[in-house]
Amino acid sequence: MPDTQLDILLCPRCRQNLLTVLDPQTGVICPRCRLIYPVLDDVPILAEDAAIAAGAWLMGIRGSTPEPSPNAGEKR
Ligand SMILES: [Zn+2]
Repeated sequence: MPDTQLDILLCPRCRQNLLTVLDPQTGVICPRCRLIYPVLDDVPILAEDAAIAAGAWLMGIRGSTPEPSPNAGEKR
């Protein structure tokens, strides 16, 4: 599959092209709104309700997979 899929993604708010963030599997960013839209199963969630502020994203808040505690995933 060509990597041009993201070229056609537009921000639902301002209609700017969205760019991939560091991990393209988890989000695309609107550089104008500074909002990041999560990508779930290769499907970008282009809804303002799902958008995460870029600042919050960089602090580790990804929205889609909230982890209340670093040790929560540890199984015994
Ligand atoms: Zn935007």
